[in-house]
Amino acid sequence: MAVNLDQALVDVAIDLLEKRFPGEEGIAAAMYTNDKEILTSVFFEPEWGSGMLCAETGAICEAEKLSKRIVASVCVSRQTGSSPILILTPCGICQERLFHWGQDVEVAVPTIGDGTKWDVKTLKEVQPYYWVNAFKQPDGRK
Ligand SMILES: [Zn+2]
Repeated sequence: MAVNLDQALVDVAIDLLEKRFPGEEGIAAAMYTNDKEILTSVFFEPEWGSGMLCAETGAICEAEKLSKRIVASVCVSRQTGSSPILILTPCGICQERLFHWGQDVEVAVPTIGDGTKWDVKTLKEVQPYYWVNAFKQPDGRK
């Protein structure tokens, strides 16, 4: 299986985090589309906390608007301007959204023991017991 997610995509997410949230807390995402376009977005946190949107949301909506497929996603975060930049696995809701483009979508996950470093996992590796599998063939594969 071809690996799409690379350091260049991680760097785009980090650059956006640094530019949009200089010296402060921030969360940013970068994604490759099937035609290798890069879509980016940042988290949205209005005063009403429940209105918050994950950093991935904007890029996911942009892909849908452009009728493109997401093939890889990275999310980076830091809690303060002096905190290390950490790789975040997409949350459960974003995983559901990314599954729209199949179980082979690649996501960056923090390496075990060092959240500043990343590994690549497909969604099916992140969620081997994904609920939709119940509706698939007995071997569970698409
Ligand atoms: Zn999310």
